[in-house]
Amino acid sequence: MAPVKSALVPSRIPGVDYVLNPYYGCRFGCRFCYAHFTARFVARRSHEWGEFAYPKEGLIRALSRQLNSPWRFYGKVVLVGSSTDPYQPPEARHMLTRRSLNLLLRLKGRSRLHLLTRSSLVLRDSDLLREGNFHVGVSVSVVRMEYFRDVEPLSPPPRVRIHVLRGLRDAGVEVSAFVAPVFPDALAELEETLRLLRREGVPVGHVELLNPHKNPLLRESRHYGRWVALTRRPEVLKKALGIVSRYYPKTQVLTHGWGD
Ligand code: SF4
Repeated sequence: MAPVKSALVPSRIPGVDYVLNPYYGCRFGCRFCYAHFTARFVARRSHEWGEFAYPKEGLIRALSRQLNSPWRFYGKVVLVGSSTDPYQPPEARHMLTRRSLNLLLRLKGRSRLHLLTRSSLVLRDSDLLREGNFHVGVSVSVVRMEYFRDVEPLSPPPRVRIHVLRGLRDAGVEVSAFVAPVFPDALAELEETLRLLRREGVPVGHVELLNPHKNPLLRESRHYGRWVALTRRPEVLKKALGIVSRYYPKTQVLTHGWGD
């Protein structure tokens, strides 16, 4: 693959000006992932999502060059990890994310720096994240453990992610949890997750209910038909909203048409 020309690229995500993704692809391979279509950028197919994570060649050189004019990014919102998790298994060796964070420290206090992950490897970089005043979001999915590995083949279990949130917070990093996605047959797990997060004093950025129509990979699951049927039942939506409002009454819930 050709070396990248830019590391920070303009974003179409609402509220985010620039994104930085150190890898092509994502080895976590979540079946509900919205980013699987990016596989085609590296001549791979959507159904191969989860089988590859290629380090971007030239990323650090491109980022250094861009940050030679740091004022371009002042006042902007920068997100590390929009279409891939920045803590891929190869990150332990390549350190592309760590080296990027180190460079992004030049924007400290001038830009709003965010990072999104579900990996415990993020704890390695607590020092830089604290130093750069990064806000770190950790996504915590709500699934039944009996099919957890079917939908998230390589991710740390949700309880480990709560542990990661605690570890980051204790290291002085600003954190929040993104509770997403919530599967419709896992409302007891939703309650338990929110109870644990509240007990830890972790803020929840938003709760996102499963959108079963957004990803063809999810359709391969033997549970798919049941999930769709459950999302259509108004009482399931009502119960989910009731649980969220009990623990985090001010948190936004993205419902993706549940109950219709
Ligand atoms: S970790 Fe994020 S980017 Fe990677 S597969 Fe899962 S949802 Fe997609």
